[in-house]
Amino acid sequence: MRSDLLLLYQVQIVDSELAQVVRQYQSLDQGKAEQATFDQARSEHEEKLRLLHETTRDLHDSELELKSVEEKKKDYETRLYGNKIKGSFKELEAAQHEIEALGRQRGRLDEKILLLMDEVEIRRKEEAEAKVAREKAEKALTEKLTAYKAAARALAEKAKRLTADRAERAKRVPEPLLKRYETIRAHKQGVGIARIVEDQCGACHTTLPSNLVRSVRETDRIETCENCGRLLCMEAE
Ligand SMILES: [Zn+2]
Repeated sequence: MRSDLLLLYQVQIVDSELAQVVRQYQSLDQGKAEQATFDQARSEHEEKLRLLHETTRDLHDSELELKSVEEKKKDYETRLYGNKIKGSFKELEAAQHEIEALGRQRGRLDEKILLLMDEVEIRRKEEAEAKVAREKAEKALTEKLTAYKAAARALAEKAKRLTADRAERAKRVPEPLLKRYETIRAHKQGVGIARIVEDQCGACHTTLPSNLVRSVRETDRIETCENCGRLLCMEAE
């Protein structure tokens, strides 16, 4: 058998390894699921935070309003009971009504403030829970991305090594034979040359005629598999 076929088979081994590396690279988990979970958790947390701020602001506004109502009421009371309102009975009555109205307003505000205080507590709890979920999702995403980057780097290094190895091995194969191999390879799922194993084509497993096997083993002719068209070589002795 021609010795350059064995050299070519060495190229094929590296080419197959390279193809395997590419497949592994393409099937790496880039953390898409973790990214989606994190995006969801982040927007949920942002929403809870917005609600918390909104309710806190409402509470604050209501407290200011209450303060103003109380001051107003106190002011009327001071004037009324301090006999500062010098005027008709109608004016006294109007002031009395005003105090009563402010008292009702204060009652409503007290109630509203109590409800808002409860709501702020609930919002705060929800925000804290959403924050924990967001941090958890972020950690999972970071871990996944770190693992992905490490795996991608390792595969890139392996591919670099194999590419250099391939160039080295290809140099030893005569150019026309290498070209022929490349042409077949391009159409045969990356496999251009197959070993004959127990009289079968190592690629498509068709049993080969014995005269063909003998020709590969005993002559310098370049033979191809009748079925798949790939170049044939014998196993290294
Ligand atoms: Zn075949």
